[in-house]
This record gives sequence, structure tokens and C-alpha cells, in this order.
Amino acid sequence: MPLKTGEEYVESIRSLNLKIYMFGERIENPVDHPILRPSLNSLKATYDLAQNPEYRDLATTKSPFTGERVNRFTHIHQSTEDLTNKIRMQRVLGQMTASCFQRCVGMDALNAVFSTTFDIDKAKGTPYHERFLTYLRYLQENDLVADGAMTDPKGDRGLPPHKQADPDMFVHVVERRADGIVVRGAKAHQTGASNSHEMIVMPTQTMTEADRDYAVAFAVPMDAEGVFMIVGRQSCDTRKLEDGTLDTGNPRFGGMEALIVFDDVFVPNDRIFMDGEVEFSGDLVERFAGYHRQSYGGCKTGVADVLIGAAALAADYSGVARASHVKDKLIEMVHLNETLWACGLACSFEGKATASGNYLVDLMLANVCKQNVTRFPYEIVRLASDIAGGLMVTAPSETDLNHPELGPIVKKYFQGVAGVPTEDRFKVLRFIENMSLGTGGVAYLTESLHGAGSPQAQRIMIGRQADLGAKKNLAKSVVGIDY
Ligand code: SF4
Ligand code: FE
Repeated sequence: MPLKTGEEYVESIRSLNLKIYMFGERIENPVDHPILRPSLNSLKATYDLAQNPEYRDLATTKSPFTGERVNRFTHIHQSTEDLTNKIRMQRVLGQMTASCFQRCVGMDALNAVFSTTFDIDKAKGTPYHERFLTYLRYLQENDLVADGAMTDPKGDRGLPPHKQADPDMFVHVVERRADGIVVRGAKAHQTGASNSHEMIVMPTQTMTEADRDYAVAFAVPMDAEGVFMIVGRQSCDTRKLEDGTLDTGNPRFGGMEALIVFDDVFVPNDRIFMDGEVEFSGDLVERFAGYHRQSYGGCKTGVADVLIGAAALAADYSGVARASHVKDKLIEMVHLNETLWACGLACSFEGKATASGNYLVDLMLANVCKQNVTRFPYEIVRLASDIAGGLMVTAPSETDLNHPELGPIVKKYFQGVAGVPTEDRFKVLRFIENMSLGTGGVAYLTESLHGAGSPQAQRIMIGRQADLGAKKNLAKSVVGIDY
């Protein structure tokens, strides 16, 4: 039975021997750790959705490779309908969790590696695609989470991998054996690392011949020998260690990122999908980035739906909902968010089949989508903070709210409209605070800026796809210049 329940997923992560460090210590039980558990809950939502009959066709589909119904997060897109269903699913999950549910990176890696291994084999007679299909079936049949690992630490950004003072600034092959390779290096900012069974590693940029050992793609289990991770901090993360959940802003869900270190990790031949084919490294990066830039048109719009709802509630609870400027700010937030959604849909509708048969998004529109995602969420958060007022950051703690003597005073003086408990008002304001300045802001703001590539990465792609020559010809034709 390929589809795991949410509980089965949680227990499958518990059974892994993950080496996770945080605050200087190894985390023996990451599944129940209060800082990590909300991120596991978000990923679990991708399993729960697949079990929900209402979302069966959105969250699951039939795999042409196993003949079975699989979770869409392990699916290879067969049509533009698959591409649009992907972002519809992401919007729903964003609405349910108001956070990063982490499983998209692997889905985007699978689709990018699928078409790129096909192209490499066609050009070079290598066996990568067949190997990859075997690995894909393993993921689909066991309903596993694969982290898509692309971003290397990069050291001095002005130097290529082979010129770095420390050769480990990019993941690279340090030994080739008859039965496989040994890799060393690290991947930074790895979303969902502690909640993944597997990891698909890809090069982070276009490589040249001198960087042959760095043009490597492969898969390893997250608990493979030599792999360990150091969890990244999130703003206000230690609020999750306090009693109560109100001050966290998002009581159940969250995201996580980590630095994953490869301390001489052995990769067997059947899990190597690129080794030295430098001329295909750019295609792999471009396709993965295209898919993940499309993804942001889904997940971030879902998250913003919750934020817009919270801003509207904050207005209701403080009695300003009828003010025309408040109404206008809410309309502006919706307008910005639906513009992102339109871009996500557009790049999906305009997707095309690759030579391998899977569907790739329209790269120009996917990059425009993500470029807008680097901007609009900041304005949406500004408007939400405007409506929420200063109380979203000056409200006393949950402990004070529930204190036998201080509590009644806090409740009295922060009462808004009659009939709405001060506690509910605080819940909404803390949520907006979380999305702007806390752990939620990591996923909604910083990730919108830097996830799937920083703004300049999209501008380079937009420039490359723009075909200014054709546009010049149009202008010449209209004004009558014929040379
Ligand atoms: Fe998925 Fe969005 Fe998180 Fe990326 S940022 S993994 S697209 S939820
Ligand atoms: Fe991301």
C-alpha cells in the first residue's frame, strides 16, 4: 500500500537514526522536540491531505511508473493539469498550516532529475535515467519524503568551486571506487531536513570542466553514515519551549532548515544520477529552480490567505473593520496575493512536455512568479502590521494573560469590541507577529526572498528568456526600419 497515514509517517521518521544537532547538543528524539515538532506536523499534513477523501484527486494521483495511486509529492508531472494541480495542492496546504510544509523541494528535484538524466543518457549513453526510475519507484512505493538538496555554502561567491580556498565549499567527489563514489561538503538552508527519509543532492550552479568533481547528483538516506545536520535558528524559536502556545503565534505548525554535512559519505552506483557531466549541470539547476519558483505561487498564496484572514479578524476585533482605509488595505492584500496566484497558474498552464515526457513549467513565467514573490509578501505583511497596530508586538505574555492578579488587568485594558475575549484578540495578533517577525516570517518573508534563488537569480533568467532581439524586430517592423 503506497500511501502512508500521517501517523505512519511520523513513526517512520522516528525509526530513522538521524544525527541532528541544535544548541550544541545531539537531539536524541527530534520527533517530539518542541522546536522541531511543529515542522514535522506541517510535513505530516501532506500525508493527512492524501488520506482525506475530499482532496483525493488533488493530493494523490496514479503513477505511470508503479501503476499505483501515489502522493502527488512523489509524482512526475504528466500534463499541464498535473502542474496546476500541484500548485492547487500547495495553496491548500499553505492555508491549512500557514507555514512551509517542506515536501515540495523533493518533488521539484524529482521532476528536474527525471528529465535531465534522460537528456544525459541520450547524449552520452550513461545509465542514469534507468537508475533514477528504480529510485523513483522506491520513493513512490514507500511514500517517502526526499529533501531536495541544492544550495552549497559557496564560500567566496566570486570564485568557482575548484578555486575556493577550502575545496569543501561545494559538495564534491573525493574518491571514485568500482562500487560508487565518496562525497564531501555541505548543503545549507536545507528545508525539512529533519523530517525527510531521503535526500536528492544536485549541483548548485552551472559547472565548467575544471569543476567536474562538483557536477554530481545522487541520493542518500538522511541517516546515511557520515551525514549529520545542524539546525538553523529561527527568530523567536525558543517561545516554543515555554508553557502554553499562544505566544508562538502558530500553535501547531512551522518549518525548519538545517546545514547538512557530508563527512565522506559513500554513494553506491545505483544512486548516482550525474557524475562529471558538467554540460548538463546548468539544465538541472534551471529546471529545478523553475519548478520551485512555480511552487511559491502555490504555497505562499495559501499562507497569505491565512494572514489576510488574520488581518481582517484583527480589524473586526478592534472595531475598525468598517473604516474605508482598512477595507482598502485588505483589498490591496488580496490583489497582491491573487497576482502571485495568477503567475503560478500561468507558468503551469504554459508548461510543455520535455524530451523525457514529463512536463516542465514555462520558465519565463515561473521566474516572473518568483520575482513577484520576492516583493509582494513584504507589502502584504506591511499592510497586515498596519491593520494589527502596535499591540501585535507589545501585548503581554500568555503567562501574564493567565496570571491570577495580572490577568484580569491585561484582559480589561486590552479588550477590543465587546463579546470577543482578549485572549482571542491576542491569538490573532501573535499570529500576525509570528508571520512578520517570528518563525512564520522565516517561511513567509525570508524564504520568499531567498528560497528557490534570490531575486537576482530570477532576473538573470528573465533576461535570458526575454529575447530582446525579437522585440527589437517587432519595433522595427512597426516603425518601418528594414535592416
Ligand atoms: Fe514547499 Fe513553499 Fe516550503 Fe518551498 S517554501 S518547500 S514550495 S511550502
Ligand atoms: Fe522553499
